[in-house]
Amino acid sequence: MEGFCFSLLIDFQFPPLFMEPVVLKRPEHNVSRRNISSAAIKVLYRLKDEGYTSYIAGGAVRDLLLDRHPKDFDVVTNATPEQIRKMFRNCRLIGRRFRLAHILFRGEIIETATFRAPVPEDETIHSEKKFSTGKDGMVMRDNVFGTPEEDALRRDFTINALFYNIVDFSIIDYAGGLEDLKKKIIRVIGDPDKRFTEDPVRMIRAVRFAGTLGFEIEEQAYQSICRNKDKLELAAPSRMYEEVQKLFFCGHAKAVFQWLEKSDLLHPMFHDFSHWIEEDKIRHDWVIQTLEQMDRWRKANLPVHPTLLFALIFGEYHEFLAKELIKSGTSPHDATREAVHQHLQGMCKNVRVPKQAIYQVADIMSNQLRFEQTKGRRPQRFLQHKGFLDAFLYFKLSSKAHNRNKELLTYWIDLRKK
Ligand code: ATP
Ligand code: MG
Repeated sequence: MEGFCFSLLIDFQFPPLFMEPVVLKRPEHNVSRRNISSAAIKVLYRLKDEGYTSYIAGGAVRDLLLDRHPKDFDVVTNATPEQIRKMFRNCRLIGRRFRLAHILFRGEIIETATFRAPVPEDETIHSEKKFSTGKDGMVMRDNVFGTPEEDALRRDFTINALFYNIVDFSIIDYAGGLEDLKKKIIRVIGDPDKRFTEDPVRMIRAVRFAGTLGFEIEEQAYQSICRNKDKLELAAPSRMYEEVQKLFFCGHAKAVFQWLEKSDLLHPMFHDFSHWIEEDKIRHDWVIQTLEQMDRWRKANLPVHPTLLFALIFGEYHEFLAKELIKSGTSPHDATREAVHQHLQGMCKNVRVPKQAIYQVADIMSNQLRFEQTKGRRPQRFLQHKGFLDAFLYFKLSSKAHNRNKELLTYWIDLRKK
């Protein structure tokens, strides 16, 4: 009797230490090993045979359940990075604070991580000194590694916290992700305000997944994004550049952009540009047309250079800025290059576009002037130029979008065929 009361008291005062996950057995789901990369399967079995727990985690499980092709397969295990390294000859450890194993196969890397606990509240990313480093460079703090449940619950959204267990081919769900996949909902794990403050990039991940998967963002999470959008300015600019590329290369750039607009995340990302497109519907339509084109290219599996994408999205804005400079006496060529540099360098405090990419965008834009030169040997020389194709794609798209340069466009299309 006494024992019974005592256990009641414990349950009442503390959250349960271990939560039973929902487990979907193999006949109850559609994930087949045939759709998992053979490299990932090898890693999973090797770890299992050595006596470790090993799961596929994150986006791959989500995509497999949705019958989509995962971009990559991430593995989680209770083996430590050192143990993983000893098990695989083709392995290298990366990362300083939390070490990850990259297991290399021909044409594929299987990222393999040890189950990870959440970062304690009082230990922000800046308090590295609280983590001691062992002689092999491994972070020794005991609460860095965690249980499968902790690993699931530190992830961003419920649909990204699912595991696939190689032992019995089951799906393990600690966060309610299976239910949310069915309902098509992006739901933050834990308190959205807290999770978005911890890592503001999660806000743009939410809109990327909503746009890509055609899901809704759960109401509280959506309200939280609207409240916390300005925190995006605190995110590391280099990480933002990576994320921005993912936003526009996901094959659903238009849908993602509409989410960015709706949630007003566009302002903290692209401050001046977002105000500029709001002023005029034609400007806005250009961006939408560009994104539709991007999505068509992605669907056709055409490789599109990130700099062409940046040139296209911001093209009209750059042309507008250049016109202002031309009015004050700068030559068209210099004005175009200066406009690109001015804008993209200014953007770097939020989204750090690499210097080389800025130069390439400036090349695409300044090369537009060369399409007007059809006399003598210049066209042939331009055709051989390494920057021709990107410049041409820009020229073609912008000419069609604005119904201009018809004859010039035909001239260049014919010349390319010769
Ligand atoms: P994609 O298909 O774009 O690769 P993904 O869900 O696999 O989507 P990744 O960036 O590859 O995204 O990350 C892998 C997993 O790591 C995610 O599914 C999620 O569980 C976790 N994760 C990634 N970024 C964060 C973050 N900022 N906060 C918490 N968990 C994250
Ligand atoms: Mg991924």
